[in-house]
Amino acid sequence: MKITPLIGLEVHVELETKSKMFCGCPANHFGKEPNTQTCPVCLGLPGALPVPNEKAIESCLKIGLALNCRVNILSKFDRKQYFYPDLAKGYQISQYDQPFCSDGFVILDSGKRIGIERVHMEEDTGKLQHVVLDGKKVSLVDYNRSGVPLVEIVSRPDMSSSIEAKEYLKKIHEIVKAIGVSSADMEKGQMRLEPTINVKIENSININVSDSTKISDTPTISVYTPLAEVKNINSFNFAQQAIDFEIARQTEEFEKSGIEKSATNKTTRGYDSIKKITFLQRTKEEAKDYRYFPEPDIPPFIIENELIEKLRGELPLLPDQLISDLIGRGIDVKYAKIIVGNEEALSILNNYKDDSDIEPNKLASLLANKKIDTKGDIKGEYQKATKVGNTNIEELKSVVEKIISSNPNVVAEFKKGKTGVAGFFVGQAMKETKGQADPKTLNKIVIELLNS
Ligand SMILES: [Zn+2]
Repeated sequence: MKITPLIGLEVHVELETKSKMFCGCPANHFGKEPNTQTCPVCLGLPGALPVPNEKAIESCLKIGLALNCRVNILSKFDRKQYFYPDLAKGYQISQYDQPFCSDGFVILDSGKRIGIERVHMEEDTGKLQHVVLDGKKVSLVDYNRSGVPLVEIVSRPDMSSSIEAKEYLKKIHEIVKAIGVSSADMEKGQMRLEPTINVKIENSININVSDSTKISDTPTISVYTPLAEVKNINSFNFAQQAIDFEIARQTEEFEKSGIEKSATNKTTRGYDSIKKITFLQRTKEEAKDYRYFPEPDIPPFIIENELIEKLRGELPLLPDQLISDLIGRGIDVKYAKIIVGNEEALSILNNYKDDSDIEPNKLASLLANKKIDTKGDIKGEYQKATKVGNTNIEELKSVVEKIISSNPNVVAEFKKGKTGVAGFFVGQAMKETKGQADPKTLNKIVIELLNS
């Protein structure tokens, strides 16, 4: 039996625009007094008309472009109808069959390409709080978040392990932050993760054949377990754990029940981060249950090529490009990855690009390992940490002199013309300095002293 997990991800990102998606209320709702940032539009009062936020749409297009998507010339908003107390209008304005962006991809470090089906724009809902008031359990609703611009990034089910899923999520997180459209702070709910998981199970069939019949491949039967979507996860580790739990649960469940994926048995599950399990919430609605139809209050959009190119031009270098730029400058991939995630370290490294006294990879390693005080004089800090500064040359010389005087036989060999033995002294001096000395500088000192 061969098991292949199929994992897709929906990622919601709250944009940090000044105002909400369809009204002028402030979009920053975090920590604000409940229901102080609302108006007839985001409260869904009858007759209120939505006006789309241009900046938010541009941010959505930028995310799509950064994820290698096609920006669709024609897009529109649709109404997605469902009832929930945090959704005042009884429908959410989202995008159904004509999203702003389609068909992108992210490349994992292994070179594997993860397809992105679509990047679309919608509005966030309000927030329910379940509390005890005067001894009674009650649910309170806060509409400050209602109507905040939300971008949804939908991948194809191209990931086949929770590790790949986590890497994909980290890349999305870095890209969104790099282009400056959201801080994507997961603790504040600015980035929410929803993996959809099922498992492909392949069984080989045992067929009794006569010896004279040759079968080149053993025939297999593939079946798929029912899809499960895990809602609203707010950490990479929880997403990874939920995926691993689902893979094991679905495989076990299939062995017991034999139930395969069908058009109607997709389920929605929650994740309990304390028990580290997923649990059934409801049988998944299908698209037809939402009765999508075009939003009548907002005309469709035609997106001109000029705007697309302007936005593309505004994109900064993306994390993957920055990493390959650093690698191109001789920096180890492991340091490059850490430094690209740290704005301060990256700018320090870039400032010392052309300083011949500073070896970029060494500086990168010091920055990545937090071995130097970034608030201090970087060059001084670097010299102190690497011990190759002028002040320490004398120290190195005395180390080398000691080794030379205690190995007269090796010195004699050098004098006879076996210049290769210089490496012995460099090696000994490296040991003595616990690998802190710069080998090139050491080599220079060794040769100098041996020839003197
Ligand atoms: Zn409003």
